[in-house]
Amino acid sequence: MTNQMMTTGQQLGRRSWAEPWKIKMVEPMFMTTAEQRGAALGEAGYNTFLLKSEDVYIDLLTDSGTSAMSDRQWAGMMLGDEAYAGSRNFYRLESTIQHYYGYRYVVPTHQGRGAENLISQAVIRRGQYVPGNMYFTTTRLHQELAGGIFADVIIDEAHDPSSLHPFKGNVDLDKVRALIDRESANNIAYISLAGTVNMAGGQPVSMANVRELRALCDQHGIRIYLDATRMVENAFFIQEREEGYADKSVAAILLEFCSYTDGAWMSAKKDNLVNIGGWLALNHEDVYERARNMVVVYEGLHTYGGMAGRDMEALAIGIEECVQDQHVRSRIGQVRYLGTLLEQWGIPMVQPIGGHAIFLNARAFYDHLPQSAFPGQTLAAELYLDGGVRAMERGVVSAGRDPETGDHRYPKLELTRLTIPRRVYTQSHMEVVAESVKAVYDRRSETRGLKMAYEPEYLRFFQARFEPISG
Ligand SMILES: *Cc1c(COP(=O)(O)O)cnc(C)c1O
Repeated sequence: MTNQMMTTGQQLGRRSWAEPWKIKMVEPMFMTTAEQRGAALGEAGYNTFLLKSEDVYIDLLTDSGTSAMSDRQWAGMMLGDEAYAGSRNFYRLESTIQHYYGYRYVVPTHQGRGAENLISQAVIRRGQYVPGNMYFTTTRLHQELAGGIFADVIIDEAHDPSSLHPFKGNVDLDKVRALIDRESANNIAYISLAGTVNMAGGQPVSMANVRELRALCDQHGIRIYLDATRMVENAFFIQEREEGYADKSVAAILLEFCSYTDGAWMSAKKDNLVNIGGWLALNHEDVYERARNMVVVYEGLHTYGGMAGRDMEALAIGIEECVQDQHVRSRIGQVRYLGTLLEQWGIPMVQPIGGHAIFLNARAFYDHLPQSAFPGQTLAAELYLDGGVRAMERGVVSAGRDPETGDHRYPKLELTRLTIPRRVYTQSHMEVVAESVKAVYDRRSETRGLKMAYEPEYLRFFQARFEPISG
């Protein structure tokens, strides 16, 4: 059998997996010319967030709100109970979250950052530390707006793109102990723990780590709040990599992990398979009371929190679907398929391949560019120019400025993220993307980088504008 006649599974010495769904409705997509892409990117200030979706061919900007809903979710949309107060869909959502995530109280929000605002305002006292396993953009901003001081307590391996540690999202307990010793437990608002750490490359936290963290926090009376946005994907990695979990379902692992935490916020636009939505779930009544009171100020009444009844119904169904082992396996399998193609061609990227995205190591990709020339942003721009693939920067632009000194924060990881929407693209799309990355890599030495031409005050990566550095 020639190589051409072999399936990828055979080439890799394994049996292939396939998506646990078939396609019922399609959305046509169109390729642009190189000339059109050049004009569109110039207009967008070399920021892929400012491109019109129409001008994009394969959109890997984010896995946020970009999932394809199932026929069941769409059917659920017809069951929306659009009452201002006490919608039936809210009670279904509440009991679904209680069932799968195990928390006692639920506050709905319009998306993840709405929940981040509530929890940050409800429990952070000005000047308190909020240790986290690396930062996330909106999470840290809300913590800082509430007066908190972020402290990175992730293990060192997370900052090393070549480390093959199986749980690079783990908290370094010694770093937490050192912070408690230095600042006292009273000055720590809570531990901000994220499942599959986005900024580290979609890297998971082990069950052993959260269990030990719980024990440490119990000694000091510190609470743990979980960013559950991609916790289902984290559960899959535990099933695959951690001893004693191979025979447990993703749903059972999720429930156990959450049981070591005091509450969670959720961007339902990720794991939960909806286009909009979020929630905050809590175990302590006092925190719940505060959050439930604040939600009416920022989001809407506590039985809709900025979502329509139909959105809450689709979300409840999305939760049930996303914890199915078959679903998670094929979702992460698709990400790995793309990653394996790139690996074979020696493209530098974060290892091991994470749950929701391929993180190209832009620093190594463009090792001739200084970080001040925004290699991650440059790579995103080049990918768009080559084939209309939209990626996003996760490096110095996303890291923003230090509130104390006003200087750029220069993170060790300078990455460009190819994020795979759930249930949207096929294996052929992944091949087109891989070939585009290869083409950009082959001409990397001609690339000169970007300079910033406009910088907004908050979350600058969304709206900043750039110009090419001319040689
Ligand atoms: C997307 C995201 C958020 C914020 O949620 P939104 O729904 O975009 O407001 C918070 N944490 C993580 C890890 C995320 O990926």
